[in-house]
Amino acid sequence: MGNRLDALVVGAGVVGVTAALALQQRGLKVMVVDQQSVAQGCSFGNAGVIAPGAFPHGAYYRVADLPAALLKVNSPAALDWASAPNLLTWGAKYARAARPDIVRHGTNLLHHMCRDALRSYELLLGADLPPINRRGYLAVHLAHSELKAATRLNAIRSSHGLAVRMLSGSDLIEVEPAVARVAAGATFLAESAHVTDPQAFVASLADVFMQRGGLLQCDRVEGLENKGNQGMIVRGVRENYVPRTVILATGSRANHLLADCAHHIPLAAERGYHLELNVEPGFITRPTALPSLGVVLTPSQRGARIAGISHFGLPGFRPRPRLLTCALERVRKLLPVLQARPGFEVWSGERAATPDSLPIVEQVPSNPSIFVSTGHGHAGFTLAAVTATVLADLVTNRSSSYSQQLSSNRSGLNKAH
Ligand SMILES: Cc1cc2nc3c(=O)[nH]c(=O)nc-3n(C[C@H](O)[C@H](O)[C@H](O)COP(=O)(O)OP(=O)(O)OC[C@H]3O[C@@H](n4cnc5c(N)ncnc54)[C@H](O)[C@@H]3O)c2cc1C
Repeated sequence: MGNRLDALVVGAGVVGVTAALALQQRGLKVMVVDQQSVAQGCSFGNAGVIAPGAFPHGAYYRVADLPAALLKVNSPAALDWASAPNLLTWGAKYARAARPDIVRHGTNLLHHMCRDALRSYELLLGADLPPINRRGYLAVHLAHSELKAATRLNAIRSSHGLAVRMLSGSDLIEVEPAVARVAAGATFLAESAHVTDPQAFVASLADVFMQRGGLLQCDRVEGLENKGNQGMIVRGVRENYVPRTVILATGSRANHLLADCAHHIPLAAERGYHLELNVEPGFITRPTALPSLGVVLTPSQRGARIAGISHFGLPGFRPRPRLLTCALERVRKLLPVLQARPGFEVWSGERAATPDSLPIVEQVPSNPSIFVSTGHGHAGFTLAAVTATVLADLVTNRSSSYSQQLSSNRSGLNKAH
């Protein structure tokens, strides 16, 4: 390649495309390659929420609660049992990361990063930022017994400076009338934002990247080869690449290529699902979660989607669409008007899940020209522009307050600390 690339980003999900924009903003010549087109992995079908705060899994699921959560027939959490033997190490790390002090640290860090989310998108895109709806987020609590847990989480949100309101009765009817009838109360987060078509949003970002001179190519990367002084060869099915740096933004598949540099990070695949609902646009006007049922009703281009479920396994494990159709049946007991939109099937995508629910953004210790950005779990659409900046800081040798906290040798993931 005559004009050598400064950076090759592998993966054109929201994490890879924003990373490419951030590197380009630092003056680097960047190419993105993906085995599919833009945002066809997990970034295709998320709920589109850009959240002002987030909690690690450990804040919801104590280790003692896990067997019941994974075994209960009606649970929104499930395990792929064929994957279970290979998830033991991950599970042990989860048990450690669920310690109260580590959950507290993760909660603080996630809230800090989420607070920068919208601003980070604005800084990356400027006037090219596609439309984002700023209508808040509603979590509907179905029973009075849920209100106590919600009040505890809301106190933590408030301590992080978030505007939190508990709604009931006529307030709720005004905010989201379609669900008001079934609610014992609701949490309203006014600073939350959303997009109705996450895939189209990421595709617009990729267009901006190309208009600014970036290169985008369809290719599947099969291996990384360190050639010493000659640099790094990235072996694609269509072509080989010799960039100065490689950024792996391959979501749940990150370890596949990291194996070539003898590096491994603790990742499980946490499959989530969505289905288009047969309702008119405007049925709901903001993402509306039903936390006890593990799903979010979120506005889509056609009307609304139901999205959610936490189904854990090894990357590439078999989907179980019934997990979502059963969740829809449970929702329909409360809101019978909700039905699957004819002609649509259940979609699923693998979130890259770390044991402590924090992303991993790091330089590979054994090979300083390789970087990885993954592990965004439930918050990748929210955090992509934030971690893109952290990544660009690492690649361009700028100091970043987040870099140690997002490396895979952080204390939350390792016994030694
Ligand atoms: C149901 C559901 C709802 C969600 N809702 C939200 C939400 O509301 N808000 C939020 O913030 N987050 C949400 N998330 C999480 C969010 O979608 C993810 O965190 C995010 O999409 C991860 O992006 P990514 O770029 O890391 O991964 P991906 O989008 O999976 O991208 C990885 C890309 O790498 C490519 N790739 C992999 N291996 C190779 C290879 N060898 N060669 C070339 N290309 C390769 C894949 O083709 C893929 O395009 C949700 C997730 C789900 C499943």
